[in-house]
Amino acid sequence: MKEQLAAKFRELFGNIEDAGFYFSPGRVNLIGEHTDYNGGHVFPCALTLGTYGIARKRTDRTMHLYSMNLDSFGVVETSLDDLTNRQDYGWANYPLGVVWAFAQRKCTLDTGFDMVIWGNIPDGSGLSSSASLEVLTGIVLLDLFDIHKFSMTDLALICQYSENNFNGCNCGIMDQFTVAMGKKNNAIFLDTATLQYEYAPIELEDAKIIITNSKVKHSLVDSKYNERRQECAKALAALQQELDINSLGNLNMDTFDKFKEVIKDPVLIKRAKHAVSENQRTIEAVKALKAGDIARFGALMNQSHISLRDDYEVSCEEIDILTDLAWAVSGVIGSRITGGGFGGCTVSIVKNHSVDTFIETIGKAYRKKVGHDADFYTVDIGDGARKLDTSQPFFHSEGRD
Ligand code: ADP
Ligand code: MG
Repeated sequence: MKEQLAAKFRELFGNIEDAGFYFSPGRVNLIGEHTDYNGGHVFPCALTLGTYGIARKRTDRTMHLYSMNLDSFGVVETSLDDLTNRQDYGWANYPLGVVWAFAQRKCTLDTGFDMVIWGNIPDGSGLSSSASLEVLTGIVLLDLFDIHKFSMTDLALICQYSENNFNGCNCGIMDQFTVAMGKKNNAIFLDTATLQYEYAPIELEDAKIIITNSKVKHSLVDSKYNERRQECAKALAALQQELDINSLGNLNMDTFDKFKEVIKDPVLIKRAKHAVSENQRTIEAVKALKAGDIARFGALMNQSHISLRDDYEVSCEEIDILTDLAWAVSGVIGSRITGGGFGGCTVSIVKNHSVDTFIETIGKAYRKKVGHDADFYTVDIGDGARKLDTSQPFFHSEGRD
């Protein structure tokens, strides 16, 4: 595919010799779901799946953006003088948003650029292709325009700002942070309140991480996401009448249980219970992992799912079918919904010897119950966004004129 990407760049924009080649991963969150906007911890990792880009600076103020995944858009042409979100730009609003967010941080580009991208993150799987694309654009800009004033953490914040304010998705920092800061064979234990983080090696010698895509995405996703954020904010405000806290992430379960009645509304109590307990589970899961207790880590993943299903109510029938099926397969260490909810994917840790059985039995039973196939991806944990080597022959050998 890298060859095709290079060929496409040459076809559309000519000479590739002075272009750069970049990669930015997708991510999966192992545990710590819906905690990132509640001042809690998350534990995600970057994947080897992601978005590739080839980009070159121009001499005028035009930007040309082309995705091989969405070629029906053709080359989206826009200008540095018109950094606005336009519906007809479609996917290109993501890279454009990053250019805009750079400008908001007093980093205006003096010229435009040409960029061709291709990604292998399954569409609609919740593995954060949008953050991957944003951070890809970010590292392209840092490199092409020789910008040194932003760290990778700054870049993650800029990309989140762009997704929040240019693309209207009120996401937390987890996705962009993971994509920017990922490390091969490590997950990132991130305190979303302080952005303090620590890498934790994931040494799964006899197990694999499997993402199962339910291939359903209920339309509630965005509205329910915003609703949950508001519910947590209300619960926090009630607790703040009694407690000196900044976020639900400041609480442990004992304190929460002692004070939860001030929230009054039983639904809000459940939402806050998830935010507090999930944060505690995430802290405990990382401890278990460090102690080599993968079984405990898996049990906490399962509890995370139950909490998301029953207290936070962001699962759905199809996803619960997948986790129920997974829990029944021997050799499954843990399985839970991952991502925003209401469809998307589960993440499971499965012993090597059970991987084939897992895919076969769950695949069959899911098709029978739901009426369509699920997709399975065995994923590897990779490094964060980076510039790639262009000394490889495919980047040079063809298309010279
Ligand atoms: P995700 O969970 O994958 O981030 P989103 O809905 O947030 O899902 O983002 C998906 C959107 O990101 C796509 O609809 C598209 O606009 C954009 N996108 C991601 N990857 C690509 C790509 N390779 N080419 C074009 N657009 C992409
Ligand atoms: Mg996204």
